[in-house]
Amino acid sequence: MITPVANFDLQAHNSLACPSRAEYFFAASDLNALRAALAWARQRQLPVSLVGGGSNLLCPAEVPGLVLQPALLGRQALSRDGTGVLVRLQAGEPWHPSVAWCLAQGYHGLENLALIPGTAGAAPIQNIGAYGCELADCLVAVEALNCRTGDIEHLDAQACQLGYRDSAFKQQLRDTHIITAIHLQLQLRPVVNLSYPALRDALQAEPSPQAVFAAVVALRSSKLPDPQTLPNAGSFFKNPCIDSDQFQQLHSQYPQMPHYPAAQGRKLAAAWLIEQAGWKGRKLDGVGMHLQQALVLTNPEKRPLNTVLACADAVAEAVWERFAVRLEIEPRRLCGSLR
Ligand SMILES: Cc1cc2nc3c(=O)[nH]c(=O)nc-3n(C[C@H](O)[C@H](O)[C@H](O)COP(=O)(O)OP(=O)(O)OC[C@H]3O[C@@H](n4cnc5c(N)ncnc54)[C@H](O)[C@@H]3O)c2cc1C
Repeated sequence: MITPVANFDLQAHNSLACPSRAEYFFAASDLNALRAALAWARQRQLPVSLVGGGSNLLCPAEVPGLVLQPALLGRQALSRDGTGVLVRLQAGEPWHPSVAWCLAQGYHGLENLALIPGTAGAAPIQNIGAYGCELADCLVAVEALNCRTGDIEHLDAQACQLGYRDSAFKQQLRDTHIITAIHLQLQLRPVVNLSYPALRDALQAEPSPQAVFAAVVALRSSKLPDPQTLPNAGSFFKNPCIDSDQFQQLHSQYPQMPHYPAAQGRKLAAAWLIEQAGWKGRKLDGVGMHLQQALVLTNPEKRPLNTVLACADAVAEAVWERFAVRLEIEPRRLCGSLR
């Protein structure tokens, strides 16, 4: 038997701090509670939405039905061989402390992903990435509750289909699976990834994983606004990918435009496009793009989601008018579509 909280205030559960109330809220600390919560909502024919740490969420003023938080905790090494270790993190484990824990155990490979907010369970959803590393580099499997059958499924990396800010959990498994744990293959050797130039520049030659971790924390702290003091959801738009023809055309017009390899065509820097379109540091109705990080939309006055989206629309429109490039919003809307 579970007892969800009625009329629950979600403002502290979304890092954009949009005023929002859930009809019901429940944090499930184990699998039985998770299944019971789904049954509870089904009996009442209520829609169900999932929330982790709320750092990549768009919360409307009223969220009908049950907002369910997979709050399962636990970190363990499942197995190890001469060079590697397989680590299991349960979905509710906060991400950054888990990165720090792995480093303290001598499990290497997550340092570049330090200080990303949120939970382990949400990390595969958009294949979190930063400083030349992404979750796909070490994710080998997830455990997920199939909401239709009630079974736990083990999905390997191929089934998760991790791509740039994308995964099967945003596509075909979107409304059917709740991630309950993730499995990561980490290294016992002190390997480091210095492929990201700004990170390499911030470090001495041959740094330790601890030095990489500290440099990432320092770089991120100096660049990104803390949602506790300035509400935001990190990058608000994905870096857009365009086809080769359009890229050639734009590049001849703007030779200084940053661009990167992509699975198809080229990837552009959304921050540069936003800045060129005149939106760096500009606001609309109290919501605006950050002065130091044009890709970060901030909501200092804790305005409602409609006001946030109106600003985002204006930014995307300005970029479209200038470059004919469409910006896609990265955070995900709570919409009660879990089945
Ligand atoms: C300051 C700041 C910096 C950031 N920097 C980065 C960065 O460098 N790189 C990056 O990739 N992201 C970044 N983000 C975005 C965010 O931290 C990540 O997307 C994170 O993984 C979201 O985790 P969460 O637990 O907060 O998920 P939430 O925001 O609560 O949820 C995100 C989505 O995942 C779904 N979800 C949550 N838990 C589960 C689950 N167990 N099973 C299935 N679905 C689930 C939700 O329904 C929602 O659709 C940043 C955000 C902020 C605020």
